[in-house]
Amino acid sequence: MKKIAILGSTGSIGTQTLEIVRNHRDEIQVTALAAGRNAALLEAQIREFAPRLAVLWDEAACRDLRERVRGLDVKVASGMEGLLEIASMEEADALVTAVVGMIGVRPTLTAIEHGKDILLANKETLVTAGHLLMPLAREKGVSILPVDSEHSAIFQALNGERDNRIRKILLTASGGPFRGKKREELAGMQVEDALKHPNWSMGRKITIDSATLVNKGLEVMEAKWLFGVEADRIQVVVQPQSIIHSMVEFVDGSIIAQMGLPDMKLPIQYALFYPDRRPMEQPSLDFYELARITFEKPDTGTFEGLALAFEAMKAGGSMPTVYNAANETAVGLFLERKISFLQIPEIIACCMRRHTVIPNPGVEQILETERWTAELAQTYAAGVK
Ligand code: NDP
Repeated sequence: MKKIAILGSTGSIGTQTLEIVRNHRDEIQVTALAAGRNAALLEAQIREFAPRLAVLWDEAACRDLRERVRGLDVKVASGMEGLLEIASMEEADALVTAVVGMIGVRPTLTAIEHGKDILLANKETLVTAGHLLMPLAREKGVSILPVDSEHSAIFQALNGERDNRIRKILLTASGGPFRGKKREELAGMQVEDALKHPNWSMGRKITIDSATLVNKGLEVMEAKWLFGVEADRIQVVVQPQSIIHSMVEFVDGSIIAQMGLPDMKLPIQYALFYPDRRPMEQPSLDFYELARITFEKPDTGTFEGLALAFEAMKAGGSMPTVYNAANETAVGLFLERKISFLQIPEIIACCMRRHTVIPNPGVEQILETERWTAELAQTYAAGVK
């Protein structure tokens, strides 16, 4: 029996993970669940999956949850203390990190310290703390299994190949809802427009990140850490149909692509059962109906979020944290309709310009840089209005 804990169980990745568990109840047991403040859904998940520990970040929501599950055999906790308790609990073999944002940094590192495999969806953690996380994972002998569809594709394409056989990683991108649009058109885009992703149904933050191409920037950094490949050997290729989930070009020129219909359950299930590949109720991809797969170069002049990611990677140290934290704050402000769509990359660029890189930052320095950046981003946003 595989025992898993899930951080972010009420979100898009979290609920899809539980859908898979539902079909494999005799093989996977859920030991703990955590979410932000959705007490009603977490209550339903507790009743269905009977975890030993449940955590809600928000204190008031946690009190509500305690009332809702009174009489059930589950411990309820809150805040970072609760997330760290999940990360270190003895019963779990693996942690699914499906929270959104840098809140995942400390729990992920703690889970690795405690020898748990990580099924990693929470890319913000790898982007900001990859230099701490990957060596620690090697030292503790734990696996970091990618859940992001592009990274799962690369992982599948690499199956059994050695790192030094990679010539290039070809990271595909749908281009998001605003593909083909120019700056003037982007200026007036509203929250509703940015939330209409053409191919994927995801949480709000990553959907906005897909519209700005910041998501692709974060994924380039994620690929660097997961596969040990520097930025100059990672090429972003726009593939609007989202059928090719990414490709690896090997030293002999051979290219292996992983393809499939866009459905996050596939990479989640692959990570859950790795190295086994299990059947899944999925229609087959009909190539006659699909007829063509097309490719484009990303427009980094218009979508500066991607270009800035390469700059942040080149600067290294604490700069990816600034890139990520500025984006997290800016996306929050955009979703609250306090800034315009084009101000998202503007805020990221402003924060990056003001930052002096800390080489090889520790956890506290990363979290301090996050606070510094969030404050600066808020101040900048208040000033430009
Ligand atoms: P969602 O917004 O749908 O879900 C986020 C989850 O995190 C929710 O369960 C939320 O709880 C919980 N959460 C938020 N804040 C906290 C907190 N402080 N403490 C504990 N839990 C918290 O996000 P997604 O599922 O879309 O994305 C999750 C991660 O996976 C992101 O890093 C994203 O980039 C990555 N990812 C997502 C993909 C997708 O298809 N959705 C694809 C590839 C990667 P609550 O519901 O209570 O707010």
